[in-house]
Amino acid sequence: MIKRTLREIEQMIEGSKTCKKDRNIVIHGVSIDSRSIKSGELFIPIKGEKFDGHNFILDAIESGAVATLWNKTEPIPPNANIPFILVEDTLVAIQNLAKSYSKQLGMKIIGITGSNGKTSTKDLLAGILSTKYKTGKTIGNLNNHLGVPLTILGFEEDTEIGIIEMGISELGEADLLSSIAEPDVAIITNIGEAHLETLYTRENIAKGKLEIINHLNKDGLFIYPGDEPLIKNEIKKLNPEFKIETFGQDPSNTYCPKLISIGENGLSFKLNESSPNVINLDLLGKHQVYNATAAIAAAKYFNISFEDIQIGLKNADITKMRSDLIHTETCTILDDSYKSNPASVLAALDTLYSLDKYNRKIVVLGDMLGLGDEEISMHREIGEKIDPSQIDYLFTIGPLAEHIAKGASPMIPKNNIKSCVDKEELINDLKKIVTKDSIVLIKASRDLHLENVVDALKSKD
Ligand code: ATP
Ligand code: MG
Repeated sequence: MIKRTLREIEQMIEGSKTCKKDRNIVIHGVSIDSRSIKSGELFIPIKGEKFDGHNFILDAIESGAVATLWNKTEPIPPNANIPFILVEDTLVAIQNLAKSYSKQLGMKIIGITGSNGKTSTKDLLAGILSTKYKTGKTIGNLNNHLGVPLTILGFEEDTEIGIIEMGISELGEADLLSSIAEPDVAIITNIGEAHLETLYTRENIAKGKLEIINHLNKDGLFIYPGDEPLIKNEIKKLNPEFKIETFGQDPSNTYCPKLISIGENGLSFKLNESSPNVINLDLLGKHQVYNATAAIAAAKYFNISFEDIQIGLKNADITKMRSDLIHTETCTILDDSYKSNPASVLAALDTLYSLDKYNRKIVVLGDMLGLGDEEISMHREIGEKIDPSQIDYLFTIGPLAEHIAKGASPMIPKNNIKSCVDKEELINDLKKIVTKDSIVLIKASRDLHLENVVDALKSKD
């Protein structure tokens, strides 16, 4: 994490000013949250929609912060005896501080955006790069205009490569994140239908994600799903200097991975039909082949050998709640309760279909939120796309997910399909039908918290 004197911090943030007497104070790390701030950290108060961090400066100091940033526009109490640095705008300040810190470390940066698969790709890539380099990565989901600077400022001084997840929900966001990180490698995992509420169209989603290349190093590498015309056509127009590699099903892609085997114990694939090496992945679901391929493409840019790629993939520390297989006393759960949107539901269903040792396959789908005006038809379409020969029961939860049931209802027997009013009803119904040889896929948007259903199924009573 960043360790600097206030004088050094002042030099890193343009236009900032600190008192002479405080200049030798050393900060160890930064925090924007007075509730979790640690001793020795620099507090950075951010003005949000509901709260203004400046109201929590005293709390932060009491909790161990050694200094704070302070917006010039905010009044400073006359008796405040707090070391501070005056800045124009604390949000811009944390972003510039991160940018400057990243430059000082001289590390290489990989930026990853996309509708699905950012965290998975990041974790796989971190596993691989760690075999050769001191690698830092986004922790959890710190992937927005505050998360990215916090991630960079959290990197150790000797970090050689930083992998940064960039989540975007509006145009202009990826441009900002790219300008902070200035990546050497930029990856777009895919273009799905997430955040349609704010981005309205797939074209806008693609445009928004593509902003990641706005500040890509001209000697760098851009990796994207080549089957996606929305990116391909834009890139053709740009004729950029950086190198480009693509992955996808079309053989014209740099990588057109070939699946060799898939099942409960993971999967194996080749990067291309003709490549001699078979890659093993301890993960569930075909979609992970593409995440791994994008990760490997980035790893090759950093000259990682095939042996190390394989070791790194094996040792990768994968974030939970993404296609986790949980064996309980009463059934097996395919826990994908972390998030949901059309592309990721189809990926999860595909994963379920690929697990063939179970006698009863039960699907629980909740609302996919944030889809905008077309949300009802999008839910219905998912129902229509469910392969009735592959599942035995379908349960939905939430008013939107009811339309999934409606879309699927002509194909699935009436008694095997149900829209539940609440989680209690859902849990009771599930408990009645699960058997030791059943598998239950659980998936919905984050706000539905279907991990409660996972926990209920895990408990014995
Ligand atoms: P978030 O936007 O919430 O940060 P993310 O992009 O980081 O999500 P992951 O956490 O890697 O994505 O995966 C979330 C879910 O998306 C997975 O559980 C899986 O269902 C689905 N998913 C992951 N990768 C892909 C992919 N390449 N294609 C389609 N769906 C995918
Ligand atoms: Mg993520």
